[in-house]
Amino acid sequence: KKIRVGIVFGGRSGEHEVSLASARAVIDNLNPEKYEVVPIGITKAGQWLLGTEPAKLIAAGQNVAHESAETAQTFTSVTFTGDPTVGHLIPLEGHNKLGDEGKLDVIFPVLHGTYGEDGTLQGLLEMANVPYVGCGVLGAAVGMDKEKMKMIFESAHLPNVKYLVFRRNQWERSPETILDQIEAQLGYPNFVKPVNLGSSVGINKAHNREELEHAMRVAAEYDRKIIIEQGINCREFECAVLGNDEPIASVIGEVIASNEFYDYKAKYIDNQSKVIIPAEIPQQTAEEMRRYAIEAFLALDLSGLSRVDFFIDKDSGKVYINEVNTLPGFTQISMYPTLWQASGLPYPELLDRLIELAMERYDDRQ
Ligand code: ADP
Ligand code: MG
Ligand code: MG
Repeated sequence: KKIRVGIVFGGRSGEHEVSLASARAVIDNLNPEKYEVVPIGITKAGQWLLGTEPAKLIAAGQNVAHESAETAQTFTSVTFTGDPTVGHLIPLEGHNKLGDEGKLDVIFPVLHGTYGEDGTLQGLLEMANVPYVGCGVLGAAVGMDKEKMKMIFESAHLPNVKYLVFRRNQWERSPETILDQIEAQLGYPNFVKPVNLGSSVGINKAHNREELEHAMRVAAEYDRKIIIEQGINCREFECAVLGNDEPIASVIGEVIASNEFYDYKAKYIDNQSKVIIPAEIPQQTAEEMRRYAIEAFLALDLSGLSRVDFFIDKDSGKVYINEVNTLPGFTQISMYPTLWQASGLPYPELLDRLIELAMERYDDRQ
């Protein structure tokens, strides 16, 4: 009997479009002999859609107001029964065309950013008692919060870049004082980021006070917490981690951004950024990164998968951990599957392993 995999994608996130591309690749790479795919799309407005073909689903999702969603069933909400072995999708409104066929063996949340990668969906799935791929509630939530992530890195003695965090209300109350403090403690250039986001959305590099002020305003629009980091003149590296309590690390890859830094455009739009796998760095440095990647994975209590990103300071040669991404990009050319491909694990087998890990984690928690 085939394993029924629910692929949840889209979502109420700044990274909605990225998720669509990742979901398409995951669906294409799931071995059809083994799996039956049930695509579950979430529109930007947060509406859940069920259907058979993700591209149409998304088109339908954008037209829900016109009720032209012939290819998809539209629900205002979805619940899951507490069946101990399988999840059961139940639309709250409208009749369930899937009927008993709606039972899912495992869910693969292919959602990036808020309401998906951040522990919210994971919480729903825990409550519904359904196995799912990737991190649990805590790991996903800390992995999304750059401040808490760095606090845990610090306590695990992982090498962090120097940073400051402010809340939006603090920023709005006394911007000049905060600009002074950032200048005194971090200097220029620095990076200003919304604490809870990804794909470089809302991130700006500031070279002077004017740019810093602008960057703060932008970040404050995205989030109620803003993190500012010392800018490192760096090369950037990524390591893929796979596993639960005994995670393994892939070879290291280097990203060469097409822009001044690896911003949204360099990541997804201009197609000019380059990836070098394996990275051309001393064996010892690669080993150091792989060790840090696993330490970070365990420190944050992650499971299933994560991509751990690093900087090497071009001036001092020092290695810094930048962040983890608990649901990294998953397109055919994305770093996470490519790093595993280069480490001897092709994309379809990587998906097999992730689904196995989801089941193992589920069993461990019973
Ligand atoms: P996201 O989660 O959106 O990917 P990152 O923290 O990884 O956010 O920042 C996005 C990019 O910005 C990085 O890949 C890097 O190019 C650049 N960047 C971020 N922080 C720094 C820093 N402290 N020094 C130098 N470059 C940075
Ligand atoms: Mg990130
Ligand atoms: Mg990043």
